[in-house]
Amino acid sequence: MNSADIRLFGAIEAGGTKFVCAVGDAEGRLLREHRFATTEPKATIAEALAFLRGAEAELCRIAALGIASFGPVELDRRSPRYGRILRTPKPGWSDADLLGALAEPFGCPAGFDTDVNAAASAEYRWGAAAGADSMVYVTVGTGIGGGVLVNGEPLHGLLHPEIGHSYPRRHPFDRDFVGVCPFHGDCLEGLACGPAIAARSGASLDQLPHGHPQWDIEADYLAQLCANLVVTVSPRRIVMGGGVMSQQRLLPMIRDRLQVWLRGYIDRPELSTNIHEYIVAPGLGAKSGVLGALSLAVRAAERTSG
Ligand code: ZN
Repeated sequence: MNSADIRLFGAIEAGGTKFVCAVGDAEGRLLREHRFATTEPKATIAEALAFLRGAEAELCRIAALGIASFGPVELDRRSPRYGRILRTPKPGWSDADLLGALAEPFGCPAGFDTDVNAAASAEYRWGAAAGADSMVYVTVGTGIGGGVLVNGEPLHGLLHPEIGHSYPRRHPFDRDFVGVCPFHGDCLEGLACGPAIAARSGASLDQLPHGHPQWDIEADYLAQLCANLVVTVSPRRIVMGGGVMSQQRLLPMIRDRLQVWLRGYIDRPELSTNIHEYIVAPGLGAKSGVLGALSLAVRAAERTSG
């Protein structure tokens, strides 16, 4: 490929434990990639900048930059703190100006959002939610998070959705477990994230036999989340990823329990005969994070060009 022929976009997946930096094109193809451990902000940001400058020197100038960040983050463009990490237990990162430090040296349009909103954008643009302009991307791993797109745009508001911290109704086999969320105890994340499974059963899901009640408990809580999303956000599709969801047996169990919780109240084929196309696995796999950042860059460029 002749570098003069491409529009190059920068992508930074800013994670709490690792940064993934990449450059790619508007079709979601990654051309260069660099990943490294997240340390304190100054050194971490410097390494990301060095990668992007190197890619520019080798290929061409970056047309736009996208940053998909761990949270909580300030997404209100009217706020003087827009683009900053908010109060976080991660040492040194509270109030870090991620957007300013990364984007200002390049002087190009920049998109900034949560890692899960970015992953939702990428699944909509290039993955399992193509064509579903209102959708939710749920990740179930060490925590539970979700990105929400409405009419193709990530949903923001007071802050951004934190769907992992909604409260499910207790499963009848799970009355006594106190949950692991440091804020709420038995919110959804506290009851159904990977560490919750380990705390309740002493093992991860893949180590438990199929008939173990933990499978039903997990599927039930995640189905309740989906049911609540259906009646609040009315998504056209729900994409479910993350380490816990890599257990493929879980997805059909969640679909079954979702139908039980909805009780036929919403009469649409998407929630009955076609439910296997409604609750789906990610199409981008482990790349959804960095491709999420790339999709924010492409969107920022589109917005600038009108
Ligand atoms: Zn919580």
